[in-house]
Amino acid sequence: MELKRAYKFRLYPTITQEKELDTHRWRSKNLWNTLLDFAIKRYNETGKFPTKSQLQSETKKTGMYSQSAQDVSHRLHKALLRCFIMRKRGKKAGFPRFKNIDRAKSIYYPQSGFSIVGKKVKITPFGEISMVIHRPIEGTMKTLSLKRESSGKWFAVFTVEQETKPFISNGKGQIGIDLGLKTFATLSNGTKIGNPRHLAKWEKILAKRQRNISRKKKGSKSRFLAKRKVANVYEKIQNSRADFLHKTSIQLVNSYSLIGIERLQSQEMAEHAYGKQINDAGWNRFANMMVYKAENAGCQVVFVDAKDTTKTCHVCGTKKNMSLYERTYVCDKCNSVTDRDINAAQNILHRATTVGQTGSHAWGDTNE
Ligand SMILES: [Zn+2]
Repeated sequence: MELKRAYKFRLYPTITQEKELDTHRWRSKNLWNTLLDFAIKRYNETGKFPTKSQLQSETKKTGMYSQSAQDVSHRLHKALLRCFIMRKRGKKAGFPRFKNIDRAKSIYYPQSGFSIVGKKVKITPFGEISMVIHRPIEGTMKTLSLKRESSGKWFAVFTVEQETKPFISNGKGQIGIDLGLKTFATLSNGTKIGNPRHLAKWEKILAKRQRNISRKKKGSKSRFLAKRKVANVYEKIQNSRADFLHKTSIQLVNSYSLIGIERLQSQEMAEHAYGKQINDAGWNRFANMMVYKAENAGCQVVFVDAKDTTKTCHVCGTKKNMSLYERTYVCDKCNSVTDRDINAAQNILHRATTVGQTGSHAWGDTNE
């Protein structure tokens, strides 16, 4: 079985390389718009969408690396096909949208055109670009995206396929984890993992700097600089959050042989069905990190259905309604009294260790 992972490394292009990267980033988005324009015109004139090869022959003159250009035409072709199928079924379907050139962010290499040479990455047509490889790449490299973040920094994101090894347990205990907003995670043994405090501080600074932008004149240099500052703080928050998630997930997979965690739902579903406010992005990322770190640590991550984990008494299994604000579960039947989140974590552990529960290992769920 194969496991997909992504590695993200900071790039340090020279001034010339950065100019070229920007040009290609622009070309990539521009190509989408040019092809889309071509497709719409053709459709209006003939009533037909262009074929894959017709789109592809339009990509030839862009000056882009041929595979990156082809990837743009493939993606557009897929989007057009979706639109075509919808219309055929009698549903209303608009054309794909034109892309805003200012927001163009990345250049994609679907299979080749890049290789790692020492501490640099060699990319057609930019040549060798300096890169900080902060962790070794394990597995076979498949794709590369070159991304420019709003702070102006460039990154290389490699996706890699790894062979999964046979599972050998680390022989440690089992735990259930309930994820929350106030407390980041509550373990079934009663341990609570709070959100990192310094994040709150940076979030305050972020809010202040965001207000600062609105006071600057539109299009002015000072507004541009204020925006940069916001992007920098935002990046700092992202980094320290990622750092927290990495450290916490490593600690957990090293301490337990089985971790039960809830399968995450969309925001509305969670609120309506489970009476829970959620932080989707952060939790999904955290769950993914645990899954891919678990294998080497001899730990198994089991996803369980989160339905009613808050409403069920972990001692006797009776259910009752719990408002979002009730912090303690008091059971009317067996009289047990348990902290709301610990009760939920206990239920998650129970479901994860019950025979017949699906989702063991759940490698297929991860794509980080
Ligand atoms: Zn009970």
